[in-house]
Amino acid sequence: MKRQSINFVQISTLLVLVLALGYLAWVGYGAIPQPEPTPTPEPVLVFEGESALALAEKQCDFGPRPTGSAAGWSTGDWIIEQLETAGWSVETDEFEWNGAPVRNIIARAGEGVPILVGAHYDTRLVADQDPDPTLRNVPILGGNDGASGAAVLLELARVLDVEALPNQVWLVFFDAEDNGRIEGWDWALGSTHLAENLETPPAAMILVDMVGDANQSLPYEMNSHPLLREQIWSLAADLGYGDVFIPEPGPALTDDHLPFAQRGVPAVDIIDFDYPFWHTTSDTCDKLSADSLARVGRVLEAYLEQGKLQEILPQLDETRHVE
Ligand SMILES: [Zn+2]
Repeated sequence: MKRQSINFVQISTLLVLVLALGYLAWVGYGAIPQPEPTPTPEPVLVFEGESALALAEKQCDFGPRPTGSAAGWSTGDWIIEQLETAGWSVETDEFEWNGAPVRNIIARAGEGVPILVGAHYDTRLVADQDPDPTLRNVPILGGNDGASGAAVLLELARVLDVEALPNQVWLVFFDAEDNGRIEGWDWALGSTHLAENLETPPAAMILVDMVGDANQSLPYEMNSHPLLREQIWSLAADLGYGDVFIPEPGPALTDDHLPFAQRGVPAVDIIDFDYPFWHTTSDTCDKLSADSLARVGRVLEAYLEQGKLQEILPQLDETRHVE
């Protein structure tokens, strides 16, 4: 009994001590400044839709720009000038097709694993889809089908922080994409030449084509690499563009991504093929929207600056094949 009562006193003392210490610790915890939780950095996206729209309009001002035309060549010169002014190193890949000079333009910046972002800058020789049969031999202005993709790339060249790029980035302007089903020509001639002649192919390729329509809708293009495609569409959803980058099956197209896919490069085509003015004389720059260009441009800006490719490189390497 006595022994137990001593134990009771000891236990009570201990309890009081523990409680007191606990209280002090609790009060102290509040008093000591705690480290701020590291905030998730908000991506700072500076791609400007209005600026991209002006870059598209400038291309339309050159007039129709089919491969081999004086206007097409001047457009190429102007593109090279924009890229060099923005601090990119520029090379060209030139050859002849059907008696016409063809010129792909390649701008490089950054270091490490190369990722290619491409668009064609030539416009189709003839408006063979025009509702007016008398206009079907007239060359198109290519506001959406030509100028929009090249404008997105040029605005990217301006806004990307080339010192901070986690990858090497190649901005590639393809020539001779758009003369398929015309005698002496084919689709994707410039990209085919480049894909076949590159000593070291890029680790991945993202193509943008017909991305400026005001009524924008970007479902999955079905010849695109599924994993790379899902990653880009999911990033677009994170940026709030899930209603436009629609993760549902869309068309399967022949475009500048195929020659790279055939060389084993995971390649994706971001394209809005639901465009009523496709290959008509009405494909003019007034059909473009700054907001549409901005959505695509900002997805690419975020993708490149956040080094998203690194996250899936191991899986891409597993599926990569070499031909
Ligand atoms: Zn076209």
